[in-house]
Amino acid sequence: MTIEQPIYLQKIKQDNMSVLLQQIWEHEGISRVELVTLSKLTSGTVTNLTQVLIQLGLIREYATSSSAIGRKRVMLKYNTDNFMIIGIDISRTSYELILTDLAGQVIKSVEGNTVGIHQPAKILDLIVPLIQNMINHASTKGMTVIGLGVSIPGPIDRKVGKLRTPPNFPGWENFPIISTLEKKFGLRVFVEDDARASALAERWYGLGRNVQNSLFITMGMGIGGGVITKGELVEGANGLYGQVGHISLIPNGLLCDCGNRGCWETVGSIPGILRRWSVGDSIDDFFHAVHQEDPHAVQCLKDTISDLESALTTLFNVYDPEIIVLGGRLYPYLAMYMDEIRVRVRERIYPFVRNQLRIEHATFGSSQNAKGAVALVFEQLLTSPLQMLSLENVKEE
Ligand SMILES: [Zn+2]
Repeated sequence: MTIEQPIYLQKIKQDNMSVLLQQIWEHEGISRVELVTLSKLTSGTVTNLTQVLIQLGLIREYATSSSAIGRKRVMLKYNTDNFMIIGIDISRTSYELILTDLAGQVIKSVEGNTVGIHQPAKILDLIVPLIQNMINHASTKGMTVIGLGVSIPGPIDRKVGKLRTPPNFPGWENFPIISTLEKKFGLRVFVEDDARASALAERWYGLGRNVQNSLFITMGMGIGGGVITKGELVEGANGLYGQVGHISLIPNGLLCDCGNRGCWETVGSIPGILRRWSVGDSIDDFFHAVHQEDPHAVQCLKDTISDLESALTTLFNVYDPEIIVLGGRLYPYLAMYMDEIRVRVRERIYPFVRNQLRIEHATFGSSQNAKGAVALVFEQLLTSPLQMLSLENVKEE
């Protein structure tokens, strides 16, 4: 880019590129003519910008034959040969790193546990060499890592890139994770709380790829969520949008970390279920007792499922998603009950949307958070391609 352009022109150019990149991603192969129709940009703009995107190495042309007339059509799709992304999941007891191409295909992955290690600096001592290995691996393949995504227990103050007061995650409050990693590697770093990162994993690589409105719920040691509306993850005024674990279900129930009483999380998370059961401290043991038809355990499970149905019904009515995706450590235990849960939730929502309700299992299993961390970077590439490739000084505001 040798010619200096005014900032506002760069911004328009980048926004138009973003529209094209999103359409190309969602259609997994599209012609320029179709892009003109879908993007409402002029054919001249589409021709120019797709040429720039090809030169940047983000997309490529390929030929397909149209069966009707046997003529070749030139289509566009993502070029996965030039750039890679590193996704880092830091949880309370473990970490996982994945190196992927732009299509989210995992090239390399590594995980480990951090039980008993609480200081962020010590955890980073473990992770930093692994990140460097992945950057080196990408470069031996002739590819460039364009950014690091980090999924971490929230809530997070996104404006300053620091954690607020994550429960049971000592030492991380106010830790400057973004600036620490940016200084270390000279790469752009993006951080998101784990539930919302997981929602982004579905948005870009999973069940939400062709869906504009979706709700992701993760059930494990806590209950978290992420809401995608019109294709975008919604933040809210304080970054609390979609904190689904904190809807009130039990009047005058247990005090929750958030300050409220009787939140869904206090009864529906793994600790919540074990507290209700009050016989043991392992979720495996609890479900073993259920399968042995122990009456108290069976009743606890019935109450848990009833709470889940109430929560799903409420959340469906509040967010009006096309799909609700359920993930987290608890889901595999509940999977065998999902058919009946779907039936009962359907009975509780407006009749005219009953047949449209989709409740599905999350796509990426135990790698959901790491995949979400990758999606975080990918989304930035789609919205700000010139900035991400450091070609223009476009400032958001
Ligand atoms: Zn709460």
